[in-house]
Amino acid sequence: MLPKSELFARLAAGATVVTPNRRLAQALLREFDAFQIGRNLAVWEAPDILPFGAFAGRLYEEAYYAGRGELKTLLTPGQEEQIWRQVIAASGLLVLDGAAARCREAWNLSHAWRIRLVAGNDDARAFQDWAAQYLKRTAGEVDAARLPDLLLEGSNLETPKAIVAYAFDILPPQTREFLDACRARGAQVDECRPEAKPSRAVRAAYRSAKEELDAAAAWARGRLEANPAARIGVVVPDLEERRREVARVFSRVMRPGFNLPGAGQAAMPFNLSIGIPLLQYPVVALALLVLEFSQGNLSFEQVSRLVRSPFLRGAEKEAAARAQLDLRLRRKLGATVSLPKLIANAEPAPILRGLLEKIYLLKNEKSQAPSAWARHVSVLLDAAGFPGERAPDSAEFQARAKWHEALGELGKLDRVAGSLSPREFLLALRRLCADTLFQPESAADTPVQVLGILESAGAGFDHLWVSGLTDEAWPLKARPNPFLPVAAQKAAGIPEAGAEGSLALDRRITEGWLGAADEVVFSFFNHAADRELAPSPLILSVEEKNLEIPAFSTFRDLVFSKRNIRTLEDSVGPAVTATQIKGGTRVLSDQSACPFRAFARWRLQAEPLQAPADGLDAAKRGTLVHALMKNLWGFLKDSSALQANFDSFIEKAADLAVKELELEGRFAELERARLARLARDWLEVERQRPAFEVVSIEKSQAFNVAGIEFSGRIDRMDRLSTGGHALIDYKTNRNPSPKSWEPPRPDDPQLPLYAVAAKEEIAAVAFAKVRPGELRFMGFSQEKNAMPKVNPAKNWKSLLNDWKSEAEALGGAFAAGAARVDPKRELATCRYCAMHALCRVYEKVNVLAETPEEGEE
Ligand code: SF4
Repeated sequence: MLPKSELFARLAAGATVVTPNRRLAQALLREFDAFQIGRNLAVWEAPDILPFGAFAGRLYEEAYYAGRGELKTLLTPGQEEQIWRQVIAASGLLVLDGAAARCREAWNLSHAWRIRLVAGNDDARAFQDWAAQYLKRTAGEVDAARLPDLLLEGSNLETPKAIVAYAFDILPPQTREFLDACRARGAQVDECRPEAKPSRAVRAAYRSAKEELDAAAAWARGRLEANPAARIGVVVPDLEERRREVARVFSRVMRPGFNLPGAGQAAMPFNLSIGIPLLQYPVVALALLVLEFSQGNLSFEQVSRLVRSPFLRGAEKEAAARAQLDLRLRRKLGATVSLPKLIANAEPAPILRGLLEKIYLLKNEKSQAPSAWARHVSVLLDAAGFPGERAPDSAEFQARAKWHEALGELGKLDRVAGSLSPREFLLALRRLCADTLFQPESAADTPVQVLGILESAGAGFDHLWVSGLTDEAWPLKARPNPFLPVAAQKAAGIPEAGAEGSLALDRRITEGWLGAADEVVFSFFNHAADRELAPSPLILSVEEKNLEIPAFSTFRDLVFSKRNIRTLEDSVGPAVTATQIKGGTRVLSDQSACPFRAFARWRLQAEPLQAPADGLDAAKRGTLVHALMKNLWGFLKDSSALQANFDSFIEKAADLAVKELELEGRFAELERARLARLARDWLEVERQRPAFEVVSIEKSQAFNVAGIEFSGRIDRMDRLSTGGHALIDYKTNRNPSPKSWEPPRPDDPQLPLYAVAAKEEIAAVAFAKVRPGELRFMGFSQEKNAMPKVNPAKNWKSLLNDWKSEAEALGGAFAAGAARVDPKRELATCRYCAMHALCRVYEKVNVLAETPEEGEE
């Protein structure tokens, strides 16, 4: 075993160092550079440090270009996976997504650990068949799994003079055989492990995972401020699942206020070792959207993103025009949008329209080779002016480079995939971007490294914090590959295959952490959901202590500490000076639900963005029924018409209603028939009433409340043979109820308002519930039996008085400028309100309920 102290001398002398993974290679490279700087060198040759797989690939290339031996063609990882996919698809079995990647993994393992493929359970049997097919398909080629063996054949291999295998916990048999063969061919081959540092280790307990993460971030910042040159590691075992949370907490702690406008884009002092799927980077998502749109329709939500995207030509110049266009499209387009339809409507943004036309002209419906598709995508994106004029930030720039790499990778599938249809190519590209985890590179000297368990093994730091070491999480459970018999994996010595091997491996990793830094903190949390947790048995020997974690100010603290705070009264706006207000009775319903909602909507004219939906939504269905009833009673006039044959009126009223809503084709026919059925059933309800005459339909009426004139429209007013008039409001929703008229703060004050403002004598107010299967009146009347299912009020006069006082109170508050964020039923009222961004009610709730978060990643 080569001592670590000699490793750098070997490297400086030109030795090749191979590592188990890329991260360890990079970590060793950084250590080597620091070592050279420590020797006061200004320049030095880049050391030869690389993962074992990349080492084998390089030897292959050298042999290939030197023309040594008859070398088979080396498949790329993408080509390998494509062949596995084809083999699995040809088997006719229903296989889950990701099976091809798991098969490739099993194939690599079986070669690295010399496992003979034998039938085991169903999965292993299926894999054995697939592997046989795969072997046939790749007879003239070689893959990464078989490459080291191929290199050892004949005269293929010319090894470096000195090789060091660094930080391998266990050398898999294939790697060992390969290195032995190199030694036999004259190379000096050694092994070297990171040297354990004498460390101060403590164990720390926290109440929850969140508290633990906050503490780890504050600790890292404290250590960094004490020594800006320190190398700090924080291990988060479930980093992949908690990546967003980790990024948010570290950003908030390391740089409070990091996400404020104008805070700048300076690099953070920490780096996460695990990326997110390439597909989730907005620049890549947009590129895929352009390709998808060139081939077919998009949802409106996707089209809206495309129109507002900063990654298309003219995005800066036409920013305002495109925002306006988006608003207009919401009224004009349906839920699904074709490219020609968007072009036809894109007039207000001529640059956008021009590039959409170019994309349309490049539409390709023919199948072609993946490399031709890759070229086509580049041409398409060029036509779209991708990625726009704005200077990209570092993450965008790198994500775009990775996207080009992914396209290039797909382009290499020609030899294994044949030609692909537009759909197949899009699917393959999407899959590749979803499977590619990408993390923009941070500066090599980023001081705080946040790592998963695997990436942490073998890395060295000045300070190391390993979190999440509960008895449930550590040691890890056995995790054998599902496609290889478990017994064979255990017999081969794969540590993760069985409980014992896994325990031994995790014990070695724990010991490795203990020697990886001068200061080591092992932490765990003792509450999760509804269970109590204990520290992992592997860290019980480490003494538990209360760590002193510096308390850093949050952004809120910083703002308050400036003491430059003015208190603004935002619960009252200026009083209304106009004598007329748009919005009618909806103003008072909003005022009743939440004063801020009424203020925002009717004083500030804030309107939520509507998203188009296909077919009829609930509001349009309601409008259709209103149109039906308006037309029907326009023909019938009074209850005497119900004694004659009214079928022709029903047909005419239904026909007019669908025309008014501009419904067309088969859809219009269906709606017409549905409305006619509904009208027939509804008139049976009307037949039960004492005689009446319809005196007004959808009549506009102005009424004055608290000095402001509101205008409204009454669905219908009938003169009753029992005396007085009835106000009728058609309802198509599931649960209309006269309870919604009850003060204080009635949910639906419309009918009460009309009742108190009407010039006629009102003797009944009623909802007419017109829903198939649920047809009835409901409401209150002055006398008994005025209308079926409409109950006589206990005291009609006092009911009208109560309604009048409530209307005055609501109108008075609105007129005075009341704007308090005060939803009637707290967050239940907010659920369907679109003013969240303006009233910030959820922030208010969060502030009251828990520690504030300062925004998403
Ligand atoms: S979201 Fe809630 S608090 Fe905000 S305006 Fe709407 S109802 Fe009021």
